[in-house]
Amino acid sequence: MTNEYQIRVVPEVAAQEDRLKAYLAEEYGFDVRTIYGVRILKRSIDARQRQIYVNLKVRTYINEQPHDDEYQRTDYPNVEGHPQVIVVGAGPGGLFAALRLIELGLRPVVLERGKDVHERKKDLALITKTQKIDAESNYCFGEGGAGAYSDGKLYTRSKKRGNTDKILNVFCQHGASTAILADAHPHIGTDRLPKVIEAMRNTIINCGGEVHFKTKMTQLIMQGNTTVGCIADKEYRGPVILATGHSARDVYRYLAEAKVEIEAKGIAVGVRLEHPSQLIDQIQYHSKQGRGRWLPAAEYAMVTQVQGRGVYSFCMCPGGFVIPAATDKEQIVVNGMSPANRGTAWSNSGMVVEVRPEDVKDEDSLKVMRFQEELERMCWQQGNMKQTAPAQRMADFVNGRLSYDLPKSSYAPGLISSPLHFWLPKMISHRLQEGFKIFGRNAHGFLTNEAVMIAVETRTSSPVRIVRDRETLMHVRIQGLFPCGEGAGYAGGIVSAGVDGERCAEAAAQYLGKVIT
Ligand SMILES: Cc1cc2nc3c(=O)[nH]c(=O)nc-3n(C[C@H](O)[C@H](O)[C@H](O)COP(=O)(O)OP(=O)(O)OC[C@H]3O[C@@H](n4cnc5c(N)ncnc54)[C@H](O)[C@@H]3O)c2cc1C
Repeated sequence: MTNEYQIRVVPEVAAQEDRLKAYLAEEYGFDVRTIYGVRILKRSIDARQRQIYVNLKVRTYINEQPHDDEYQRTDYPNVEGHPQVIVVGAGPGGLFAALRLIELGLRPVVLERGKDVHERKKDLALITKTQKIDAESNYCFGEGGAGAYSDGKLYTRSKKRGNTDKILNVFCQHGASTAILADAHPHIGTDRLPKVIEAMRNTIINCGGEVHFKTKMTQLIMQGNTTVGCIADKEYRGPVILATGHSARDVYRYLAEAKVEIEAKGIAVGVRLEHPSQLIDQIQYHSKQGRGRWLPAAEYAMVTQVQGRGVYSFCMCPGGFVIPAATDKEQIVVNGMSPANRGTAWSNSGMVVEVRPEDVKDEDSLKVMRFQEELERMCWQQGNMKQTAPAQRMADFVNGRLSYDLPKSSYAPGLISSPLHFWLPKMISHRLQEGFKIFGRNAHGFLTNEAVMIAVETRTSSPVRIVRDRETLMHVRIQGLFPCGEGAGYAGGIVSAGVDGERCAEAAAQYLGKVIT
């Protein structure tokens, strides 16, 4: 017999199966020996009060072993010899597009400019050693895309856009922990993601698809107003799903020059803010002891409005690292990632200010991208023309003081004290200063000189939208071209990029005459 219950328990009960069984036996009048298994279906932490609770939806197995599947499997048929679709980019958008194409009986040919996910890791390590960025293999480019060496957060606000549960189930089928199906704020972790991504690649290849690394698309092949393929190391023929991410500036430049309709899009710009994780735990869990033994590193989400623009925390990484995420020379860009256990001594988040196209001078479609570029270059100059990032203690920044010294940080290439309040554009720095004061009032202890701001966080989303038709998902003018994922301006995050990848695969299948049921 199986039963499902919605319960509210203290963290030590939620975290230990024998305690959970004992609780359920007592609460619902079972003999504990008859509970063969307990499966957690949903889990969320309620940290609003001093006593923290964990809300659980559980399934109990009474006098029977758990037998049902923990996740929903997708069937991937062999597609050798089937019509092919070219997928440019092996980030979540491209990978989920490729897998969905296989489901629909089409053969994906994936072109990725960077290296495979393991080779790529070596180039990431070299950034700290050499202080240089490899323009083809870095935290944004390479198999798995920008999401591979990340926190692997898998929640998205865009439920309406498609089937987010499907994305999580496909991740589980490729080796992610099934905990991601239960957690309110699921995440995989940068130490676990590469194996999952590799398994997804193997599915594509084993089903008869192709995955090419170090293969950069440089041009679309056009016949009138129709894309019939693209050029990389050679010509690849078929409709093109263009999933090149928010950092492929050469692709945007190429599209602008080729008069493919694109438009400037708003982004958010700011810094990475890093606190000791213990301090964030103490604040969020209302306890001097911090998270204790049974709770995870605490998260936060902050948002306010200052002078008509949103100021908010972005991509929070509890127990994580700040990382150098530039994609070319003469840039500094920071971002964050965390291992599965979120166990480092630091918690960071982007602290960013909304920037709208009208905030940037000029009228052309690449103006927001140039704004990003200028800021990243300015930051590199402030950082001694290396990857050492300019940084300032948080309270010093709010008070307009240069930091005399800096706290220990997870940012491996090193920090250099710099007056961010002075050289960041005023539209950013003033709003961050005001925003931090508000956040400090709402969360006592948050505004502190124990926290360090690391510049500059610019790659929050795409600075360009590649304009597509709402129904066909094809480019507004060009047939056979499917702008996809974050780089096209239709996703923000791993899951929404995956969902958009699936939608673009379906659109490409319909374009090729497939009827989708
Ligand atoms: C450090 C970091 C941490 C992040 N953490 C999270 C997180 O925890 N949760 C979350 O939801 N999101 C996170 N994000 C954002 C998330 O990674 C992106 O939203 C997501 O990866 C976008 O997917 P995509 O497939 O559209 O593009 P991308 O992931 O950017 O993939 C694009 C791919 O295209 C390739 N490419 C580019 N140009 C070409 C070309 N000309 N030819 C061939 N290939 C090309 C690139 O090499 C890249 O692999 C993080 C991003 C970064 C940088």
